[in-house]
This record gives sequence, structure tokens and C-alpha cells, in this order.
Amino acid sequence: MRITALCGGIGGARFLLGLRTLGHDVTAIANTGDDMTVLGLRICPDLDSIVYTLGDGVSVERGWGREGETFRVRDELAAYAGSVAAAEPLVPSWFGLGDLDLATHLLRSRWLADGVSLSTVTQWLCERWHTGIRVVPASDDRIETHVRLGDGSLIHFQEWWVRHRAQLPATGFDVQGAAGAKPAPGVVEAIMEADVVVLAPSNPVVSIGIILQIAGIAAALRATAAPVVGLSPIVGGAPVRGMADACLSAIGVATTADAVARHYGTRRDGGVIDGWLVDDADRDVVDALADSGFACRAVPLLMHDIAATAAMAHAAIDLAEGLEDAR
Ligand code: GDP
Ligand code: CA
Repeated sequence: MRITALCGGIGGARFLLGLRTLGHDVTAIANTGDDMTVLGLRICPDLDSIVYTLGDGVSVERGWGREGETFRVRDELAAYAGSVAAAEPLVPSWFGLGDLDLATHLLRSRWLADGVSLSTVTQWLCERWHTGIRVVPASDDRIETHVRLGDGSLIHFQEWWVRHRAQLPATGFDVQGAAGAKPAPGVVEAIMEADVVVLAPSNPVVSIGIILQIAGIAAALRATAAPVVGLSPIVGGAPVRGMADACLSAIGVATTADAVARHYGTRRDGGVIDGWLVDDADRDVVDALADSGFACRAVPLLMHDIAATAAMAHAAIDLAEGLEDAR
């Protein structure tokens, strides 16, 4: 089967590890709104989390960056920033720029400067990491998620998330560049030609939500003949990892599995999904979601290990196949 998965970084990457074991032809469409430029280097956190995870190079403890990483360059930059005024604004002290990771950023930045598209760069990175899954950025055009704070000012998503741990109250998100951004080559085709489209249990606001803001992607989800199913990143009223609750409250959505499903909406009512998996802990919302037109099931949704994650991916495809039969 051809499976197309929309995903963010760490949650998305872990989900893809499980999905990959099922042996389907998988295309992952990744969020690029987290991307930022540091010291002239283009950094793509979600793409790198996916590629390093699928390539067995990710730091197991952190879930992002490289295993066996060192931070000598970062420390040296900090020494400059501490003693040279002109260096200080260039070096974000909160950003974990690793030495091994830097090689990826150096090559990617050079290729981009030479005019190579981000999707081709990503394909080349996948060659090195033997991802076994086609990984495509949502767009080759530069987009960056900025967070709107209470006083109306905007800061880059990474600064809000990493430096401030999403503790500064946000009132919304502004995706700079999204208005003119086009889906990367193959993105719309992967959605239209899929047998099943899956929304990974990724952040619904700043991962999947950003992908959906790129012109044509949400329309493709609504138009595809494939069933579209999602897995809840919210279990028992809280994100499993991270601070998705801060993102959801910024856009006025409750941090519950059913509120996220209703936020995506059913395709028959102009939304983007047909089916929704919630964790067993949330089984009490299944009937109400079914009444609202969602094909909904409760299954274990904790990605403890690859086998548990594969079972989640299998349950999503199974839910989707039931929908096809129903047509
Ligand atoms: P990020 O870009 O690194 O933040 O990663 P994603 O957006 O892809 O995924 C983040 C989301 O994954 C968070 O909202 C978590 O709640 C969710 N998540 C992480 N681990 C699990 C898990 O084991 N099960 C489920 N259902 N969701 C998870
Ligand atoms: Ca991310």
C-alpha cells in the first residue's frame, strides 16, 4: 500500500519508525515551520529528527540531535558571545547546536545556497541515513512559525519553545512566508495517489497545523480518494511529551483527544479527516465522536517501543480500510 503520513519532528519520527516495519511504500510529509537560520546555517529541526531517527542516528535520550553528540563548537561560540559584543546577538545561547549535527547544517546550507531545493537536499540526506521512507518537506519555500505574545510582539517558534519552554502565554501563531509558499514537488501527488493518508500523533497546531496552512495541502486532503485518519497526540487530557497544551490553548482548543479531532474536522463537513484513533484512556469520547461523523476507535496509543508503535500504525490503516469498505 502507498501510505502518506503528515508529521512533525519527534512524535512524527517515532511514529514513522513503527509504520516502517509494516512494509508499505511510505511518504512522510514533514513540517518546516520550525526551521530557522543560525549564523547563516539553515536548520530544519523536524526534518532532522525524522532523518536521524529513521537512520538510527538520533540521541535516544533527547529524541532529537545525534547520539554521541558533543557541543564544543557551541561552547566556543558562547565564549565569543561572552567576550565580544558583536558576537553576542549572533549566538543564541539556548540553541543546542551539536558538533555532529553541524555537519548536516553545513552541507544543507551550502546546497541551498547553490540553488538546490530543500526537497532534493532532504532526499540526499535520506541517502546517507538509509531512511527507507521518502521524506519530503511540506514546502521548498521558506516558512517560519512565529508566536504572537500577549503584547502583540512575535518571536520565532524555536525561541518560544526551547528558550521559554512555551511558558510565555501565546495568543496565536503567524506562519511567515506561508501565504506565498507552494507544496514541495510530490506533496500533493503523494496525498492524491495514496491508498491511505495518516496524520501522525504530532502537534496539531505547530506541526500538522503548519503543513495544512500551505496552499493546496488541506485541499488535497479534502479531495483525495484515500481515507484520511489521524492518531491523537493527546492522551488523558495531556500531551504525551512536550507542551502541545500551550499551543492548543493559544488557538482556543481544549487539550483533549476529542477537541483535537473536532479541530481537524470531518471531511464531510469541510474538515480534513475521516477517522480518529484515541487512546484507551479516552474511550469515553468514542461514541460522541462517532455521532459527529468520525470513524473512531480507542486503542493503546503510547509509543513505548517499535512494536507498540507498529500496532498503532496498523490500527490506523485498519480503521482506514474499514472506511474504504464502507464507501
Ligand atoms: P515535535 O515537532 O518534535 O514537537 O514532534 P511532533 O509534533 O511530531 O510530535 C509532538 C507530539 O507527539 C506531542 O504533542 C506529543 O503529545 C505526541 N507524542 C509523543 N509521544 C507520543 C506517544 O507515545 N503517543 C501519542 N499518542 N502521542 C505522542
Ligand atoms: Ca517541531
